[in-house]
Amino acid sequence: MKRAAILGSTGSVGRQTLEVIGAHRDKLSVCALSCHRNVGVLLEQAAKFGAETVICDSPIGACSVQTYEGQGAFERFAREGDYDILVVAVVGIAGLRPTLAALERGKTVCLANKETLVCGGDLVMRAVKRFGGRLLPIDSEHCAIHQCLKGNATKDIKRIILTASGGALRDMPLDRLPFATKREVLAHPNWDMGDKITVDCATMVNKGFEAIEAKYLFDVPEENIHILVHRQSVVHSMVQFTDNTYMAQLAAPDMRLPIQYALLYPERVSSLAVEVDFCATPLTFEQVDMARYPALSVVSEAAKAGSAMCVAVNAADEVAVGAFLDGHIALGRIHTILSRVASGFKGEVRDVQDVMRIDMEARRLAKEVIC
Ligand code: MG
Repeated sequence: MKRAAILGSTGSVGRQTLEVIGAHRDKLSVCALSCHRNVGVLLEQAAKFGAETVICDSPIGACSVQTYEGQGAFERFAREGDYDILVVAVVGIAGLRPTLAALERGKTVCLANKETLVCGGDLVMRAVKRFGGRLLPIDSEHCAIHQCLKGNATKDIKRIILTASGGALRDMPLDRLPFATKREVLAHPNWDMGDKITVDCATMVNKGFEAIEAKYLFDVPEENIHILVHRQSVVHSMVQFTDNTYMAQLAAPDMRLPIQYALLYPERVSSLAVEVDFCATPLTFEQVDMARYPALSVVSEAAKAGSAMCVAVNAADEVAVGAFLDGHIALGRIHTILSRVASGFKGEVRDVQDVMRIDMEARRLAKEVIC
């Protein structure tokens, strides 16, 4: 029986993680749950799954289980809590410190938070090597690559091919794109995810971040990571080897599958995902039309330029997407905001303090550019 602690249990991945655990109660139990704001839902979840600990960065109030609350609560729990697996499904840069704290104890981290590797990829992978912990990605693409690489050596990889659905606006006429409404942007054709990441899918910033994550997770140079549009989201990514053999992982688009893979790794058991009907789902692939996704170019530039610029683009995107979701800016302004903010940051980050400093500075700049 593995004891899982879920940071961000009230969000989309967090809730689906609980569904997976609910379906495998003989193998998995919940020891701790956490939220950012939604304390009511958190306590309901804790009662239902018998969690002994609840964690929140704001006050929780009186309750019958152990609590970690206030600033730094996630990290404190990661550093001293009693768990086997830490699921990091919080949104934003808040995922970095708890991930590092768990890895420094040699724990298993199932990582659904993109910012952690986009902003601190070097620091995180160094911690994995040094302390012998395990990092398993909860992201359909990286989960696919992880499976394709089983039994294969990194030196034999020619390319990693990340597949992308193209997001909700993949067929919108180009001249209408900059003015797409929030409702149009959030209508993702294949995946059920949180609002921020669904906007990032429409701009393909998400895919740019995933390329950065793949570079760190699988130790593959940036220029060997390619993106292909695959509308059906059945091929979750591929690896091309030096002999031009391709390995791909295929499954219905259902986040509960990568979650289960990470939680139960290396065990493979029945899942909540449905079967794929290949006769009803022809699979297609297209090149990415860069004119449609200008923000993706900014992220790719940052990936080449160094980790400081990656931190800045990530922070600027969080501010810009927030402003779009709040109705303050048009979708078409996101890439100009990213580009203006990113251009000021060079070099590599050295430590967590460095990441936090650049993150704050980039957020301030992004807000300035928006006003
Ligand atoms: Mg993904």
